[in-house]
Amino acid sequence: MKTAAGKTIQNGIAIGPLRVCRREATQLCRTSALTPEEEWTRFTAACGEARAQLAELYGKALDRAGRDSAAIFEIHQMLLEDDDYLEAVRDLLETQGVSAAYAAIAAGERFAALFSAMEDSYMRSRAADIEDVSRRVADILTGRGEPLPQEGPPAILAAGSLTPGEAMALDRSRLLGLVTRRGSENSHTAILARAMGIPALTGVDFDEGWDGRPAVLDGERGCLCIDPDPDFLDAVRARQTDALRQADRLRALKDLPSVTLDGREIRIYANAGSVQDAAMALDNGAQGIGLFRSEMLCLASGSIPGEEQQFAVYRQVVETMAGRRTVIRTLDAGADKHLPGLCGDKEENPALGCRGIRASLTRQDLFRQQLRAVLRAAAFGPVAVMFPMIASLWEVREAKALLEACRAELEAQGVAAGPVEVGIMVETPAAVVMAEELAEEADFFSIGTNDLTQYTLAADRQNPGLERFCDPRHPAVLRMIRHTAEAAHRHGCQVGICGELGADPALAEDFLRMGLDSLSVAPSAVLPLREHIRSLDLSRDAKPASQ
Ligand code: PEP
Ligand code: MG
Repeated sequence: MKTAAGKTIQNGIAIGPLRVCRREATQLCRTSALTPEEEWTRFTAACGEARAQLAELYGKALDRAGRDSAAIFEIHQMLLEDDDYLEAVRDLLETQGVSAAYAAIAAGERFAALFSAMEDSYMRSRAADIEDVSRRVADILTGRGEPLPQEGPPAILAAGSLTPGEAMALDRSRLLGLVTRRGSENSHTAILARAMGIPALTGVDFDEGWDGRPAVLDGERGCLCIDPDPDFLDAVRARQTDALRQADRLRALKDLPSVTLDGREIRIYANAGSVQDAAMALDNGAQGIGLFRSEMLCLASGSIPGEEQQFAVYRQVVETMAGRRTVIRTLDAGADKHLPGLCGDKEENPALGCRGIRASLTRQDLFRQQLRAVLRAAAFGPVAVMFPMIASLWEVREAKALLEACRAELEAQGVAAGPVEVGIMVETPAAVVMAEELAEEADFFSIGTNDLTQYTLAADRQNPGLERFCDPRHPAVLRMIRHTAEAAHRHGCQVGICGELGADPALAEDFLRMGLDSLSVAPSAVLPLREHIRSLDLSRDAKPASQ
């Protein structure tokens, strides 16, 4: 038996074969030792492979999400046959002697810049597509393009790293557990693994030769074991049975309130990024969706769906939640959730760049489509809209004015729209400092502790080497939460937490004492948190753990 330690992202035990995904980011080499003709042959072969991948993705998307959603993969195939694009690649190979991968990316960027500058909004949105498809071809050429395994029996997947888009594309029914070599606890990929509720570890130095071998992913102990001894396997199976028993016990709390022994109630919502997540949220007794990460709809395909597609998904989520409130956060693309072509050129500091509300106010054509889709979905059940990455009052006022303009437009067109509450994410220090004024503009606040931590402590949440410095339990972050709650309540504004910290049972008592109205957590964390809250007694003179 061999063991590799890791950091637990999602607790639980998985037993099954290990499936190693052999893809590593390869440096893109500009120059080539091959002749332009040889590089061209490689390029055309890679295009053929990319078209085959896209045809397969089209078929799957057609089954799962319908023709409208699948259409994007058809468009990508067409772009790969575009004469102008192919000619630009050939020209780069012949005149600059570059590698095929470099030429694919460079030609993609050139066309994306052209598309971005066009008047027509349809053509502008093709900018992201041409970059995406060029990246696919370059990945195939550099060896990173081996697709994530989608076939075969259920397995524990081991990968060097995964982008949020790749995590979204995983087939959950075949995934027993997830192990990555690199990744941080608060990255969006980790958040997605938690949302799926599958046991997951990061920081595991697995061996590629372990592919296909029997394995145990032990989230409780933070390790991956290969060729487990029979005794160890028996002990793990016994723990797995206990965990199932405990899950059954927790199910009894599904329809009970999250109320302390002395009668203080807090609502527990779930975070979601898909219709599947919404179903899990309901199944786990969430009182609603406290954060629907709408950008997740874009990450799997690398493009932004239009109004009709967004409306169809939001409506499905709202209907799945059967009368419970759904908070739809407007597109929070940017930083690690990169959508090529959204805000123009590559950025030096994407985490401080055109992300969240900044991208929406910059690309109002896309923002309007989304606001219209949200308003239309609100005709089917309780919906709130929430704006991410707010730092200034004017951003909220401008976003609200656009929301009202969209409502008026829908009314004039005779299209049904429902009422929506308006909330903002408090995830920048500026929003905390401005909380009094912002509370006058918003119906509710949702504190995004993941970003609030990185921006307060000036420590990249994506960098696993900085975890010690990027501590969401830092007194500065906890004081900001307290300050935000107090300021919000002085203005009759509700306040909750939707960052990962909200699920920490050790802080639940502090959050209750701070007066938070709600916590929004991964679906699998709802019932354990409810159980913990129901065991608390705030009338006892306990000292809060924070500060
Ligand atoms: C946060 O920043 O805490 C948050 C909930 O948003 P995201 O993790 O999607 O950036
Ligand atoms: Mg955030």
